[in-house]
Amino acid sequence: MAPGPQLESFDYIVVGAGSAGCVLANRLTASSRHRVLLLEAGGRDSNIWIHIPLGYGKLFNDARVNWLYSTEPEPDMNNRTLIQPRGKVLGGSSSINGLLYIRGQAEDFDHWRQLGNAGWSFEDVLPYFRRAEDQERGADALHGTGGPLAVSDVSEPHPLCEAFIEAAQQAGFPRNDDFNGPSQEGAGYFQLTARNGRRCTTAVGYLRQAKRRPNLAVVTDALASRILFDGRRAIGVEYRVGDTARVAHAGCEVIVAGGAFNSPQLLQLSGLGPAALLQSHGIPVIADMPGVGADLQDHLQVRMQYRCTEPITMNDVINSWRRRIGAGLRYILSRKGLLTIGAGYAGGFFRTHAGATTPDVQVHLIIFSGDSSGAALHPFPGFIASVCQLRPESRGFVHIKSADPTMPPAIQPRYLSSAFDCDTVVAGMKLLRGIMRQPAMRRYIAEERAPTPDCMSDADLLAFARATGSTVFHPTSTCRMGQDAAAVVDERLRVRGIERLRVVDASIMPTVVSGNTNAAAVMIGEKGADMISQDAKASAAVRLSA
Ligand SMILES: Cc1cc2nc3c(=O)[nH]c(=O)nc-3n(C[C@H](O)[C@H](O)[C@H](O)COP(=O)(O)OP(=O)(O)OC[C@H]3O[C@@H](n4cnc5c(N)ncnc54)[C@H](O)[C@@H]3O)c2cc1C
Repeated sequence: MAPGPQLESFDYIVVGAGSAGCVLANRLTASSRHRVLLLEAGGRDSNIWIHIPLGYGKLFNDARVNWLYSTEPEPDMNNRTLIQPRGKVLGGSSSINGLLYIRGQAEDFDHWRQLGNAGWSFEDVLPYFRRAEDQERGADALHGTGGPLAVSDVSEPHPLCEAFIEAAQQAGFPRNDDFNGPSQEGAGYFQLTARNGRRCTTAVGYLRQAKRRPNLAVVTDALASRILFDGRRAIGVEYRVGDTARVAHAGCEVIVAGGAFNSPQLLQLSGLGPAALLQSHGIPVIADMPGVGADLQDHLQVRMQYRCTEPITMNDVINSWRRRIGAGLRYILSRKGLLTIGAGYAGGFFRTHAGATTPDVQVHLIIFSGDSSGAALHPFPGFIASVCQLRPESRGFVHIKSADPTMPPAIQPRYLSSAFDCDTVVAGMKLLRGIMRQPAMRRYIAEERAPTPDCMSDADLLAFARATGSTVFHPTSTCRMGQDAAAVVDERLRVRGIERLRVVDASIMPTVVSGNTNAAAVMIGEKGADMISQDAKASAAVRLSA
């Protein structure tokens, strides 16, 4: 996979082959006009569990495909350090995520536009969502077909999901068969980034096709350690493959797509970040940018665990070798059944109070149970319903702890550090309980295991959230797009005050979207690639007319 020496000079260098990076690599090489180098710190996506949706659970703790980050002790979460998995493999986090395809609310993007980011209203970004999508249900005004990202329905209904949707209706919420349709509100099944029971990562959807092009070089196991500058102009990237240091030059641009933790880390290692932080690690400051690594946002989820009255959960399949073999055979023969499910099967988006104009919490119904994300499944029938606040106010940070690029950065989301977030999470737990106690769902609940029924007051519920809450894996906004002095990139994703350098990934979101973040990261990759190509054409035209 290593490029020959003649390839060490490129037009574009993309750092990170994740959700956004693979999109960029595909789109920027499509015209054959530009030579692109794609650097990925992880390896090839040959692990079979990447491609089987249920394999998600196997990749949680697998250092071969996962950075396995964790937070610093979280002051408002009983000083616990919380896991932060991130994909480290072709496809990035799209190769290890829960596959749920949710774009967020139209209002999220309209808000980005209202913050001054021209070109990012829902009307502006919808064409990029549609361009990316290959929607199994067909195309309409809101959905696309023929794109690289396969989106499909779950292979079959499940009695617990049916009961949950009915219970939500009994609690007064609508059924919603399309969370990416005109309204997000209500309960229904999730759609997945999958095709024929196989996961569709961006490496599968975008990169496989592009890899055949002679103008794309992909180097795996390549850790970008520093962006190289001539003054304030990015001119290349220093990277390591094993113990060998290499340098690649970029004639047009360097594009950082390392994700919400690694993109700010690489900028800081390269001299862009809070000056005092960089100086404390002996890194020469190219630009004092306090916003790099600031504004970390993430969705906190609180998982409510139930013992089920019937052996219909995944626990029952995984804990029985007979049923495991049956599920395996069914998958091989028909691509249906338990191996095709993602992190959530059904769920919903709800408003916790009448004043909310759009849903402010999301529920994931997970048809298995364990004590924590990635832990062994319980030896009895069980399931989980988790609640997460969609638009948290809490803000954290990502800061390097060392000038050594192989050392993980300090990650501190500061979950539940805002009173508003505490109130919303508690209201969400109460709302979820209200659904779970409806007749349709009650017949499946043998025991409310956690929180137990005596955990009742707001203070009790908040204490439960602080003691057990964890990430739902949606960190964003650490290289935030904006027009204010602390913003890291402008509306064309160019790093402010620096030439020929962009950040294009989930880290640029001004605010986290109201839903799962992969679809938006892919959209950012699509839009970013379009802007880069437009800008290249514009500067070529200027050169010609000069
Ligand atoms: C366990 C888990 C479950 C999730 N579930 C869902 C879900 O169900 N639905 C959903 O929509 N979203 C989900 N997400 C979130 C979603 O996958 C991410 O928001 C999205 O993939 C982020 O895309 P990105 O391009 O910003 O970064 P990533 O996809 O993380 O890509 C960054 C890439 O850059 C590489 N890289 C980083 N630093 C360097 C460097 N210095 N040199 C070279 N390469 C580098 C990384 O190895 C990685 O491949 C989940 C995430 C996780 C981790």
